[in-house]
Amino acid sequence: MSDANTPRFRSVLDRFVAYRPGKTVVSPEGKSYKLSSNESPFGPLPSVVDAITAAGGQVNRYPDNGCTALIEAIAARHGVSSDHIAVGCGSVAVSQMLLEAVGEPGVEVIYAWRSFEAYPLLADLAGVTSVRVPLSDERHDLAAMADAITERTRLIFICNPNNPTGTVVGERELEAFLDRVPADCLVVLDEAYREYVRDDAVPDGLALRADRPNVAVLRTFSKAYGLAGLRTGFMVAHPVVADAVRKTYLPFSVNTVAQAAAIASLRAEDELFERVESTVKERDRVVGALHGQGWTLPPSEANFVWLRLGEATMDFTAACADAGVSVRPFAGEGARISIGLTEENDAMLAVTAAYRSRN
Ligand SMILES: *Cc1c(COP(=O)(O)O)cnc(C)c1O
Repeated sequence: MSDANTPRFRSVLDRFVAYRPGKTVVSPEGKSYKLSSNESPFGPLPSVVDAITAAGGQVNRYPDNGCTALIEAIAARHGVSSDHIAVGCGSVAVSQMLLEAVGEPGVEVIYAWRSFEAYPLLADLAGVTSVRVPLSDERHDLAAMADAITERTRLIFICNPNNPTGTVVGERELEAFLDRVPADCLVVLDEAYREYVRDDAVPDGLALRADRPNVAVLRTFSKAYGLAGLRTGFMVAHPVVADAVRKTYLPFSVNTVAQAAAIASLRAEDELFERVESTVKERDRVVGALHGQGWTLPPSEANFVWLRLGEATMDFTAACADAGVSVRPFAGEGARISIGLTEENDAMLAVTAAYRSRN
């Protein structure tokens, strides 16, 4: 809260809690298993490290503000022309740019809840009104989301697979939903976990958006491509949408090293996708083991699973911490657990087994 003797800020900031770094949890044996942020558990590939090192030699210069080479590489990879693409400092930054591009007083933005934690924060910052539509059975309720559209709705996020529940929306239901959205309202398909999807019913947003000018697709280098620490994401959309987003770009924000690493990662995609495949196999193993322990959980198409723990969530999180396993709790709702390396997943499964037998 502000008082008369200190600088005044926007009242919306009173709703924000200042960032507090998570505590590193350590097991009695000194082990730490970080399963809280859905990162790739694999370090960068040698070819990517080489590109990072080479780019490091050029950081006395500003980055290419147009991200030309990166955008060309993305365009070639996905078979679209460059004018359909906008990049940002992570796809979170692209979401922020989108909200800045549509945001003005009175504008409504719809998203499912619970979904990605960044949506409400970015919406508040952009000064738009959040309209949250509850998940139904851990899934997007697309019919209810369509019912929530008003003439003030300018943007709708669909997180597919949904963070933190891992659930997906299928092609038919998504098409039916899109048919109900007015042409002047933008639908943003956040596909941060697309590379982990194995369910054929889930549409590839990039194909689906081709004949829909009001659909934008967000992708990121942070998860399957293993570059979370370098912050690069992108949007593929109609050139009018891409243009609007580019106008809100904080100059030079995607740095030289990040641009080079993202290009190198696109070149190394075969190797990276082998790692994704091993994570998908681990996901199936973890889900099987959890079922065997008696847990029920929604089917996940992402690199994490969701345990609906309700009031037990923080107790479970503490049990994980005692074993050196960090997970992402949402108090009163559940815990999101990333799929890591086999050893990490086993450490987590030992906690869930013990917890299950005690509770
Ligand atoms: C992790 C994640 C992202 C990626 O964010 P970056 O800014 O690209 O690191 C985007 N959307 C969702 C839903 C995520 O979970």
